[in-house]
Amino acid sequence: MTQVKPGSTIGIMGGGQLGRMLALAAAKLGYRCHIFCPEANSPAFHVAHEVTVANYDDEAALTAFARAVDVATYEFENVPARTAEIVSRETLLRPGARALEVSQDRLHEKDFLTASGVKTAPYKAFESEDELHEAIKLIGRTAVAKTRRFGYDGKGQLMIKSRSDIDKVLDITKGAPAILEGFVNFDREISVVVARSASGDVAAFPVGENVHTNHILDTTDVPARVSEVVEAKAKVMATRIANALEYVGVMAVEMFVNDGAGEIVVNEIAPRVHNSGHWTIEGAETSQFEQHIRAICDLPLGPTAARGRVHMKNLLGKDILDFDKYLSDPKAHYHHYGKQDPRPGRKMGHVTWVNPDDE
Ligand code: AMP
Repeated sequence: MTQVKPGSTIGIMGGGQLGRMLALAAAKLGYRCHIFCPEANSPAFHVAHEVTVANYDDEAALTAFARAVDVATYEFENVPARTAEIVSRETLLRPGARALEVSQDRLHEKDFLTASGVKTAPYKAFESEDELHEAIKLIGRTAVAKTRRFGYDGKGQLMIKSRSDIDKVLDITKGAPAILEGFVNFDREISVVVARSASGDVAAFPVGENVHTNHILDTTDVPARVSEVVEAKAKVMATRIANALEYVGVMAVEMFVNDGAGEIVVNEIAPRVHNSGHWTIEGAETSQFEQHIRAICDLPLGPTAARGRVHMKNLLGKDILDFDKYLSDPKAHYHHYGKQDPRPGRKMGHVTWVNPDDE
C-alpha cells in the first residue's frame, strides 16, 4: 500500500469544522492541507495551506486539486460519485468510492449491513403511496420513514406515531425514493469510531454514548453505560463493517442498544470523522482526526484508550458566546469553529471535559 509521508500534501473535500479539525491534526504530523469547498470563507480555509473554491462538478478545478495533492479525503458523505471518480483518476482517494456509494443511500446501506451480518431495523423501500402501504403491511405501523438520500440531522425523516402521520409521509418524501424502517425500542444510542489503515490495521475507540436533541447531537459520554459484552460486541461490529468495505480512514457507526436483551442494532454509518468522536481530541490517547490522517497516509495507527471519563457537549447557535464560562473552567476544553453567524441550531463549536469533578 502506498504510504504518504509526513511533509506531503493532503487534499480535503469539504471545508466545515470536520475539515478544519482534520487540517489541524494533519499539521501536527507535518502535512499541508489543500481544502476544496464551494463556499468561500469556510471554517477549514482559516487553517489550510491552500484552498480551492469551486463546485463539486467543476472537472477542471477538481483535476487541478487532485494533481496538487498526494492523497485526497473528504469530510462529508455526499461527495457526488462523479466527483470521486474525477479525483481518483489523479490521486489516491481514501476512503474510496465504495464507502460513499454505501453510505449515501439508506437502502444500499441497509442491504450492505445485512449482507455483512450486522443487525439493522427491518426495512422496506418505497416511492409511491401504494408501495408505502405495502411497506406498512410488512414492517408495521410503528415505523420511521426516511428518504434514501440526503437526509441528515433528522431531515427527510418522519416518525409514524398515528394513522394520520401516514398521510404526512409522502409530503416529507415528496415521491423521492425512501425506506420505511421498523421503530427500534432502544435504551440508548451509541457510536463506535473505528479506523482502518491502508495496510488493513484496525483500531476502534471506546464506545461513546450519544444524546440527540431535536435530531442534532447534543452530548457524547465515554464510557457509555453499556456492559462489557455490549462494548466488545459493538467494536467487533464496527470492525467487521470497516473490513467488509475494505475501508481506509476513520468511520463512525451509530447503533441503538437494548440493555435488557443486550441487543445492538446498527442505525447508520458515516464514512468520515464524526461529531460523536470529538471527545477523542483531549479525551483519548489519539484524536479521531489524527487517526484519520494516520490511516489514509498508511502510518501506524495510534492508541485509542480514553484518558478517563469524558463528556463532550456541542455548542449550537449562541451557546458559542459563553466562552468566558468555559475558559474559566479548568476542566473544560473549548473549541470554536470560526463560523461568523451563530444561527439557532448551527454547530458553532464544542466543549470537552476530561474527568470532570461532577458526575
Ligand atoms: P438518523 O437520521 O437515521 O440518524 O436518525 C436520527 C434519529 O432518529 C436517531 O438518532 C434516532 O434517535 C431516531 N431514529 C432513527 N431511526 C430510528 C428507528 N428505526 N427506530 C427508532 N428511532 C430511530
